[in-house]
Amino acid sequence: MKLLPFGVRDEPMSRHTSLHIGGPADLFVRVTTERDLVGAIAVAREHELPVLMLGGGTNMLVSDLGVRGVVLQNDWSETSVDGTTIAAASGTPLASVAAVAARSGIVGLEWMATVPGTVGGAVHGNAGAFGSETKDVLIDAVLMDLNGDTWTDMNADLEFAYRTSKLQKTPIIVVRATFRGAPGDRASAVKRIKEIANERIAKQPLAQPNTGSIFRNPPGDHAGRLIEAAGLKGATIGGAMVSTKHANFIVNVGDASAMDVKNLMERCQRDVRERFDIDLVPEVELVGEW
Ligand SMILES: Cc1cc2nc3c(=O)[nH]c(=O)nc-3n(C[C@H](O)[C@H](O)[C@H](O)COP(=O)(O)OP(=O)(O)OC[C@H]3O[C@@H](n4cnc5c(N)ncnc54)[C@H](O)[C@@H]3O)c2cc1C
Repeated sequence: MKLLPFGVRDEPMSRHTSLHIGGPADLFVRVTTERDLVGAIAVAREHELPVLMLGGGTNMLVSDLGVRGVVLQNDWSETSVDGTTIAAASGTPLASVAAVAARSGIVGLEWMATVPGTVGGAVHGNAGAFGSETKDVLIDAVLMDLNGDTWTDMNADLEFAYRTSKLQKTPIIVVRATFRGAPGDRASAVKRIKEIANERIAKQPLAQPNTGSIFRNPPGDHAGRLIEAAGLKGATIGGAMVSTKHANFIVNVGDASAMDVKNLMERCQRDVRERFDIDLVPEVELVGEW
C-alpha cells in the first residue's frame, strides 16, 4: 500500500457535509492559512494524489464510497476592507463577508448573510440569493492550479452564469477573492440581513439536513413548483425525502445514503420530464467515487 503523507485517514465525509452524507475520504486535511493551503497542494502533487476542495460542504452530495485522494477542508478565514472593497480568503464563510460589509457601512452584500458555505464555494458556483449573485459583486479572484501556479482572473474571465462558473469540473482552486459593495449605512444593511434571514426561516426546511436547492430553476419557472406539481412533495426513497416545506429541497430524514438522494433526484427528473417535458439540472454537485 502506498504511504499516505499527511492528514487523517478514512475520515467520514458525512461529518463535513450539510446533508450529513458521504463515505470516507482517503485523506482529510484541514487548512487554516494560505501557507497550509499551498503546502497541502504541494504534498498532494508530490504524491500524485487527486485533491477535492471542501468549503462548507453545503452544495455537495458525496458518494457512499467516499473520496479517493485528499480532501482539503478550507478553514482559512480572513477579511480586509478598503473603502467599499472587501478582500476575503477563500475559506471565509460568506456570512462573515456580509457581516464585515454591514459593520463597515457597505451595502449590496447583505444577501450573502444567508447563503451557507465559503467564499471559494460561492465563486466556484456563482452562489446567489434574493436577486443578487456572486457575479454582481466580485471584482477578481486569485486562483491556483495543482502545480501551485497562481494568477488573478477578473470577473469577466470567470464565465459566470446562473449557478456556474468556468471553474466547475476543473481542479482550479480559489485562493482569495475581492468583492465590491456600495457606500451605505450600517443600520439599513443590518435590517436587510434580518429581513432575508426571516424570509428563509419561513420558507426553507432549515431544521433538517439538506443542501439547499437540489436543482437549478429552469428558465422562467421554479424547480420546486414543478416537483410539487408532479406530486412529489413528501416523496421518499430510503432516508431521503422531498421536503414538505419546499419541494426543491431534499432532506435527510434518517440515515439517508447518497444513493437514496441520487435515486430521489432521478425520480424528480424523470417525473418532471414526463409531466412537463422539462429537464431539471442539478445544482448540487455529485462528488467522490460513484
Ligand atoms: C440551507 C441551505 C441554503 C442554501 N441557499 C443557497 C442560496 O440561496 N443560493 C445559493 O447559491 N446556494 C445556496 N445553497 C448552496 C450552497 O450554500 C452554495 O452553493 C455555496 O456557495 C457552497 O459553498 P461551500 O463552501 O459549502 O461549497 P462546498 O459544498 O464545500 O463545495 C461545492 C463545490 O465548490 C468547490 N469548492 C469549494 N471551495 C473551493 C475553493 N476554494 N476553490 C475551488 N473550488 C472550491 C468544491 O470542490 C465543490 O465542487 C444553500 C445550501 C444550504 C444547505
